[in-house]
Amino acid sequence: MNNPPVPAVRLAGVMKRFGDFAALNDVNLEIAAGEKVVICGPSGSGKSTLIRCINHIEQHDGGQIVVNGIKLDRSADSIAQVRSVTGMVFQNFNLFPHMTILDNCTIAPRTTLKLSRAEAEARAMELLAKVRIGDQAGKYPSQLSGGQQQRAAIARSLCMQPGIMLFDEPTSALDPEMVKEVLETMKTLAGEGMTMICVTHEMGFAREVADRVVFMDRGSIMEQGRPDEFFGNPQTDRARQFLSQII
Ligand code: ADP
Ligand code: MG
Repeated sequence: MNNPPVPAVRLAGVMKRFGDFAALNDVNLEIAAGEKVVICGPSGSGKSTLIRCINHIEQHDGGQIVVNGIKLDRSADSIAQVRSVTGMVFQNFNLFPHMTILDNCTIAPRTTLKLSRAEAEARAMELLAKVRIGDQAGKYPSQLSGGQQQRAAIARSLCMQPGIMLFDEPTSALDPEMVKEVLETMKTLAGEGMTMICVTHEMGFAREVADRVVFMDRGSIMEQGRPDEFFGNPQTDRARQFLSQII
């Protein structure tokens, strides 16, 4: 008998409180390796908190989170192991402003993975070329457009060779003409079999790329389904109301 495949991410009964406020309230979610999941929902519904708990930027305070079979148990070891298999892309890029794009991409591979400078730079240049900003490697973040900065941030994450990419509204801070180039980069990654969890309100991207859409409200998953099911026939009033506001 074959063992069932280990899910990329499994959340069971996850709770996260800020003081008395439950930002996540009994969240259960299992994501298969290679699956692409879009998380949407109103502002304040817990989307960022959810993906930040997956790589322990926030610490959950109830339930279980298991990533690639590694249980997040607050030990430095489990946190380091989970971070080594997850990449995170933020709304505001979070590049190091005082470093060139190339140095942004090589610092973690050199310090954490102990790659030589030459190895780290070769990997970085390959990935910067892949996100089509190979010619920007020597510049500082402030010299790039928002779309270029976000693609640099994606390349920086990929330099650590994560199996799971977490995106938190990666296009929300971009001017409209730059949204497409970042979504194209994300589609390329999706086509290569990356496990992706994307908080986004780009519903065209969700329809085209997502295997599953998860709708959150007030710290809970209200419903989830294939994009055609979710968009075509939402099951809850909250989802219908949300969709009527954004589409
Ligand atoms: P979303 O990403 O869906 O907009 P968040 O996950 O950022 O929502 O936030 C969910 C709720 O938790 C919000 O009400 C927010 O104000 C609250 N929250 C998030 N982070 C903190 C924090 N560090 N301290 C206190 N409250 C927080
Ligand atoms: Mg958020």
